[in-house]
Amino acid sequence: MSGWRAALAVSAAAAAYLVISGGTERRPIVELLAWLLLTAALAGATAHERRLRSHYQRIAEQLSTVYGKVQANFEGMKRAERLSSIGQLSAGLAHEIRNPLASISGAAAILARSSGPLDATNAKCLEIIRSECDRLNGLLTNFLSFAGPRPPRLRAVQIEPLLDNVLGLTAHGIRGKHIHFEKHVEDGLGAVECDPEQIEQVLLNLMINAIEASPDNGTVTLSAATRNSSIVIGVIDHGHGVAPAHIDRLFDPFFTTKENGTGLGLPVAHQIVRQMGGELLAQANPTSGMTFSVVLPGRAARA
Ligand code: ADP
Ligand code: MG
Repeated sequence: MSGWRAALAVSAAAAAYLVISGGTERRPIVELLAWLLLTAALAGATAHERRLRSHYQRIAEQLSTVYGKVQANFEGMKRAERLSSIGQLSAGLAHEIRNPLASISGAAAILARSSGPLDATNAKCLEIIRSECDRLNGLLTNFLSFAGPRPPRLRAVQIEPLLDNVLGLTAHGIRGKHIHFEKHVEDGLGAVECDPEQIEQVLLNLMINAIEASPDNGTVTLSAATRNSSIVIGVIDHGHGVAPAHIDRLFDPFFTTKENGTGLGLPVAHQIVRQMGGELLAQANPTSGMTFSVVLPGRAARA
């Protein structure tokens, strides 16, 4: 029974008792009734206020959830808009730069062949021209795949051999640093529907970042497991990690903290994974370093 109903019942019972027990004094009965009615009114008002307060609290919670969702959508839209305008810009620019670059590189090659034996300085200059042309060409390839990675060619792919391939390529490519590689693949993880070339490209980028962030003798782990109905491929390192102020900018095009970085590795990887209907997530490890997870939709075919 709610407060005001209880108070009313008590007041009625007390008044009835006074009348039945033959009380002739009218004043105490009236006073009692007045006090109890007042108590009932106050109790009623308090209960009403409590209900209102919890109602408004629920509305405030709903509003804050909606606000969070709107904010996340807004950030997503801003990023998509930035990606699309930068994509268009870079595609045009890359094509414009590619042709003269090919001419420079070709001219340097002709010069190297036709001018007979070169002294050390000239040979060095030609080598610089060649290697810088290669570097710029690589950068442009990145730009172009960022501007519009080809549509994925999905097929059922065995994940473990794919990870072995990535580990082989990574181990081959590192210079000057000693890194331990580990691989953890969930038992019975069968084929996953994805574009193997593109996933390899994504994982290679993540592995290179992980190695660059790791100390000498650090460990980098590649893992694959099912989570709910998705397949998660993780690249885990124990390196210097990402400063809290930078964590929201990791997937922004051109965001880099490296002297020679392009800041395109992660945004390209992000875009490729999204085209496959998946997600690329970055998370700081509890102790040290980062975990990047490629989450692919669970179109897995069990082995
Ligand atoms: P780049 O490697 O050319 O800088 P990326 O897009 O691959 O471009 O990475 C962007 C930035 O994200 C890096 O410069 C680095 O600051 C940060 N980052 C990426 N991966 C890691 C990692 N595993 N550990 C720490 N920082 C990372
Ligand atoms: Mg990188």
